[in-house]
Amino acid sequence: MLNQNLITYHKSEHRLPLAEISSAAKKIINKLVEHGFEAYLVGGAIRDLLLGLHPKDFDIATDATPEDIKNIFKGRCRIIGRRFRLAHVYMGNSIYEVATFRGSDPGDRVMKKGQIIRDNVFGTIDQDAIRRDFTCNALYFDLQEESILDFAAGVHDLKKGELKLIGNPNKRFVEDPVRMLRAVRFHAKLGLTLSAEMRQHIVNNRMYLRNVPTARLFDETIKMFHCGNMEIAYKELLELKLFEILFPAAAQIVPKQKQWHDFLIQAFSNTDDRLRNGLSITPVFLTACVLWLEFLPIYHQILNSGKNSHDALHDATTQVMVNQREHLMVPKAIQNGVRQMWMLQLRFKKMFGKGVYSTLHHPRFRAAYDFLLLRNTVDDKLNQPTEFWTNIQDMSPEGIKSLIFGKKVKRQKINQEL
Ligand code: ATP
Ligand code: MG
Repeated sequence: MLNQNLITYHKSEHRLPLAEISSAAKKIINKLVEHGFEAYLVGGAIRDLLLGLHPKDFDIATDATPEDIKNIFKGRCRIIGRRFRLAHVYMGNSIYEVATFRGSDPGDRVMKKGQIIRDNVFGTIDQDAIRRDFTCNALYFDLQEESILDFAAGVHDLKKGELKLIGNPNKRFVEDPVRMLRAVRFHAKLGLTLSAEMRQHIVNNRMYLRNVPTARLFDETIKMFHCGNMEIAYKELLELKLFEILFPAAAQIVPKQKQWHDFLIQAFSNTDDRLRNGLSITPVFLTACVLWLEFLPIYHQILNSGKNSHDALHDATTQVMVNQREHLMVPKAIQNGVRQMWMLQLRFKKMFGKGVYSTLHHPRFRAAYDFLLLRNTVDDKLNQPTEFWTNIQDMSPEGIKSLIFGKKVKRQKINQEL
């Protein structure tokens, strides 16, 4: 292999913490090497380790084809993907992505209007390196030699704290527009800066995101939501005019109504905090928060046309999901979760009788309650239910009983609107 751009950092020249590398990933690599293949740890894991972070997954790149990998790992291996075929190897409790080196011959890729539709042409490691997105993602770790192979001066850029695209930015963003969202995510998550030039390329090419399958856009959006620094990512999405591509209705509202901008900032920073504290998160929550901005006016419109609040809520939810489908495909399971969270907002208005128990024990209670707290920051009409549902969580069963069935409870016709 001959590559002029390749910089090799030998064992003594880097401080990659070897102990942090997953032993299952090492096993997979060693096994591939035993069978006579080349295999490396690649991409995000090396980048994160060099930055002193804990990688969330360890990806492997090899010259073995998916069929070779299947032959070696048999029942522990599944070949997945159409656009980008790769092998999943099950080891320990995790799944490892083992991808065959991709070739760089553009003539063999399936392209449509400059966009890569399918990329299953195999190649060599240096070809594989330059078709990766950012310089810091084109790093390979050789376990046998314990050396880092850096094909695009990624280590240098990481040291300078810069996120740099490999190759011509226009071409690379058009080829796969999702890279624009990845740039925002890596900026937020890793604190790497985007040059003024790259920012301009993103603004100029943002419309190409409309050509990406909406299910893939949703996946990327969720990765962004959960990157740990969504508050920063959100501000960046607004500046780069990408928010309007993902959530056009919300993007119309936030510049005009500051309270909703603040509402989203609060939602994002709450999720960032939860992640920092190791608490569980669900993609349902932030999806419900962002789509709420579009939901509310539709809900009120339907209510004004004479429907009851329950029907208006369901119809408005359906309408939001249909509208959103054109831009970003929210999977059915998440749609259902959002609907339940919103439906619970109505039930929170009812603070007496048996129904209180079923609200309290609803599987979405936690997320819906957090959402109520968030809504309360922009709507002080919610002070009373917020207080009620906060207090009730700390009460004894007897206390709850007397509170919701007691004589003093006024069963007046309550305003059953949101
Ligand atoms: P993280 O796992 O933290 O999201 P990552 O860089 O590992 O970050 P993955 O989506 O796991 O991201 O991808 C693994 C590697 O595959 C990347 O490091 C990069 O080299 C390459 N890659 C992923 N997506 C693209 C893309 N859209 N275009 C080019 N290369 C990509
Ligand atoms: Mg990864």
